[in-house]
Amino acid sequence: MAAVDFDVAILGGGMGGYPAAIRASQLGLKVALVEADKLGGTCLHVGCIPTKALLESSELYHRVAARGPEFGINADKVQYDYARIAARRDAIVSQLHKGVQYLMKKNKIEVVEGRGKIRDRNTIDVGGKQVKAKNLIVATGSTVKSLPGLEFDGQFIISSDNATLATNVPESICIIGAGAVGVEFSTLYSQLGVKVTLLEALDRLVPLEDEEISKEMLSQFKKAGIDCRLGVKVKSAKKARDGVSVETDQGEVWARQLLVAVGRAPRSKDVGLEQVGVQTHPNGFVTVDEWMRTSAEGIHAIGDVVGGYLLAHVAAHEGMTAIEDIAGQRVAPMEQELVTRCTYSHPQIASVGLTEKQARDKGLEVKVGRFPFTALGRAIIHGETGGFVKIVADGKTGRMLGTHIVGPQATELIAEPALTQLFQGDAWELGRNIHPHPTLSEAVMEAALAVDGHAIHI
Ligand SMILES: Cc1cc2nc3c(=O)[nH]c(=O)nc-3n(C[C@H](O)[C@H](O)[C@H](O)COP(=O)(O)OP(=O)(O)OC[C@H]3O[C@@H](n4cnc5c(N)ncnc54)[C@H](O)[C@@H]3O)c2cc1C
Repeated sequence: MAAVDFDVAILGGGMGGYPAAIRASQLGLKVALVEADKLGGTCLHVGCIPTKALLESSELYHRVAARGPEFGINADKVQYDYARIAARRDAIVSQLHKGVQYLMKKNKIEVVEGRGKIRDRNTIDVGGKQVKAKNLIVATGSTVKSLPGLEFDGQFIISSDNATLATNVPESICIIGAGAVGVEFSTLYSQLGVKVTLLEALDRLVPLEDEEISKEMLSQFKKAGIDCRLGVKVKSAKKARDGVSVETDQGEVWARQLLVAVGRAPRSKDVGLEQVGVQTHPNGFVTVDEWMRTSAEGIHAIGDVVGGYLLAHVAAHEGMTAIEDIAGQRVAPMEQELVTRCTYSHPQIASVGLTEKQARDKGLEVKVGRFPFTALGRAIIHGETGGFVKIVADGKTGRMLGTHIVGPQATELIAEPALTQLFQGDAWELGRNIHPHPTLSEAVMEAALAVDGHAIHI
């Protein structure tokens, strides 16, 4: 092998790449991180962080403006100022971006600025420079994708990047796609009083979630005034009457803007994968094993570019797995069934493990425990009684197979059942854990007890 400067070189400094670089440094490896744009990637700059900052503002506005009197608060003249909402979003991103830059210095990570391309299994070309390492990790992430004939113009037909970075909101919007991104933006806009039409080709909202979750979402979205149209095929869209006319198989929808939220495409082209023999699936995602090893010796791949759940914490965890494999310190392989999935819509959704249908389709005998937030003191105090916790357990052993939550703080509540599942725990053990009162976490305990018919408050 030619002389190398680093133990590991990582291509891409997003939520996959930069935590992996930190872990590499912690394990005593010398590491270089190549980044073409800004450290933090999609998640920090146009994904998780800015969208949740926007949702925090819209939620606060909506709660006070629409529901203030219910809580004894006069809120006649509450208004929002979107320019200031956007400024707060930018300040949060900037603060966290500085934090990541600091962490790179603290951990003595060599950050190489520029677009990189893999030359051979030990070399990444970055501009005129060569970064040489014993091991390479591909962490180039993903980009927005559209539908044929619906090219983004950034003004009328927009992507999630455009919507996230906007400094104003339209009076009306049509959103194609009711996955996580589509329902989060539906929530944001509708809480700010924007007229929202949500189009989904399949027959339910959030189609990857448990069917009962989809039903509850539909009912709550309808109550919120979101015009949800399911089983709709979009044929075309064109600029019309200072907005966009969307032609579907169920008639025309007109709105000031059209947001296309139909998934993401891997950034696996033009990074030199072919010349080192890294195989990809037909859809462009890189093929990896459970240790994040690609088909090419000495090259791992992590994050959105490998497909599966396109989530920041998945990218970060895959980074740990890859680095520990490289360092010869394997802890545990990547297990997709232990991934927590979170959607920050209103109501929030969170899940881990198998849906009830997936468990039954696997031929498992299944027991289900449910607990509605309507029966919980803390949820009533919050004024958020819609939704439920549903726990799917093995019918014979009681082993936790999956948890599905729709309702207040679902994204915070999911960590406990996920840990129980990681520890291969049973539902009764989760129910046996003494939960503080009054908290939303009691709904998780009650659902776990409900698996054996032992819930107290229903
Ligand atoms: C609107 C939206 C909201 C989201 N909200 C959430 C959420 O709430 N929670 C959650 O878990 N996930 C969320 N996600 C998903 C999350 O952002 C991604 O899963 C995560 O960013 C993936 O990390 P990554 O490192 O694989 O890729 P990325 O974050 O895309 O990072 C890849 C990096 O590689 C760099 N790069 C690419 N090619 C090269 C090259 N050739 N040379 C050098 N550098 C290169 C890019 O500039 C980028 O910085 C959201 C996504 C979107 C779009």
